[in-house]
Amino acid sequence: MLSKEKRRKASCSCRQIELVFAGEPKATYACSCLECQRGTGSAFAYRAIYADTALIGQKGETRSWRRTGESGKWLEQHFCATCGSVVFMRAEALGEALSVSVGCFEDPSFPAPRVVYWPNRKHKWLQLNGVPDHSPI
Ligand SMILES: [Zn+2]
Ligand SMILES: [Zn+2]
Repeated sequence: MLSKEKRRKASCSCRQIELVFAGEPKATYACSCLECQRGTGSAFAYRAIYADTALIGQKGETRSWRRTGESGKWLEQHFCATCGSVVFMRAEALGEALSVSVGCFEDPSFPAPRVVYWPNRKHKWLQLNGVPDHSPI
């Protein structure tokens, strides 16, 4: 592994869970779907996708909750049983990758979301400067 490679650590509110990732995320996104609104308690989720191979350190145990998305494929939220932070998600459609909650990195210089999913569910006031809406094909 390259020693200069960027490393970032994601943790839950009580710090029981820590995940260390090497390199830059494969993708970043915001999602305004209703499940993300409920899951985060906010107007949208802001997440970064890392391949499983980029996860170079992990401590703490997560609980998970699996649901079936509108596509019929499963999605799984992984959260801390003590403090409740949703640290990452897995999804059938993602394959061998994790979708990590960017807020857990405590890094204001983290790459911005590249796209907003479910723009039709976006709160009316919400404008993410320069981030385009995802238009379904
Ligand atoms: Zn915790
Ligand atoms: Zn969503």
